[in-house]
Amino acid sequence: MAQISWARDELLLACALVMENDWRELRQNDVRVQELSDLLRSLPLHGNAAVDSRFRSRNSVSRKTTDIATAHPDHAGGATKGGRPTQNVVADFLADPKGMLAAAYALRAGIASGELYDAPVQPDEVDEDGESSAREGRLLVRLALHRERDRGLRNRKIQQVRRLNEPIRCEACAFDFGATYGPLGADYIEVHHITPLHVAGPSETRLEDLALLCANCHRMCHRNYMGEAWRTPDDLREKIRAVARHAASPAS
Ligand SMILES: [Zn+2]
Ligand SMILES: [Zn+2]
Repeated sequence: MAQISWARDELLLACALVMENDWRELRQNDVRVQELSDLLRSLPLHGNAAVDSRFRSRNSVSRKTTDIATAHPDHAGGATKGGRPTQNVVADFLADPKGMLAAAYALRAGIASGELYDAPVQPDEVDEDGESSAREGRLLVRLALHRERDRGLRNRKIQQVRRLNEPIRCEACAFDFGATYGPLGADYIEVHHITPLHVAGPSETRLEDLALLCANCHRMCHRNYMGEAWRTPDDLREKIRAVARHAASPAS
C-alpha cells in the first residue's frame, strides 16, 4: 500500500492524545490507540483507503505517537521521521495548547454526533492551491461551511435582521446587493459564523452567532493566510479601514 500522508485533522487528534499522555508515545496495545485507529479509519478524508486493513492500523497510529512525542523539544534523544506536518502540529500545540485541544474536542464532537459524516465536501474547504493549511484542519472547516450554506438558517437570519429594521447588507464593507444589482440582487447575502467551530464547539448554531457578509468579504474571512483560516467581520472591517487609512496618508 502506498503511504497516505497524515492529514492535519488526523495529526490534531493524535497530538491531543500524546499531549494528554504527558507527551509520551502510546503502545499499539493501548486501548486509546485502538480507539483512535477505528476513528481515523472512519474519517471522510482519504476516500476508501480503509478497505486496506493496514491503513491507520494500531501499529501505524502507535508509530505516529512516537513521531509526535519525539518531536517535542524536551524529548531526550533523536526525533523519528515525523516530517514537517508533524513538527508543525506539535509546535502549534505547544504555542496554544488550549486552542488546539479545543479544536480536537470539537472535531471529536462533530464525529460523535454523526454531523461530520453527513456534511458533503465543501468547495472552499481547501484554498486556491488545493491545500488546507487551516490550523483546525479541514473537517471542522467543512462542517462550518456546510452549516453556513443551510438555506433555512440563512433565511431565518435575514428575517431576524429585517425585524430589527436593519438593512440586508455586508457587515464588513456595507455592500448591498439589491442597491447594486437591483431586483436581481435583492436579499442576496451570505451568512458567516462569527465564532469559529473550533472555538465555539459544534453545538447548534444560533442566529446571534451569524453575521451577514457579501461574497467577497466572506471569501476573505475564510482565506488561509498566515496560518489562520478564520476572521470575524470585525477583524475584516479593521483590515479594510487600515488599508483606507494607509491610502489617505501613504507616507506613514
Ligand atoms: Zn463585504
Ligand atoms: Zn463563513
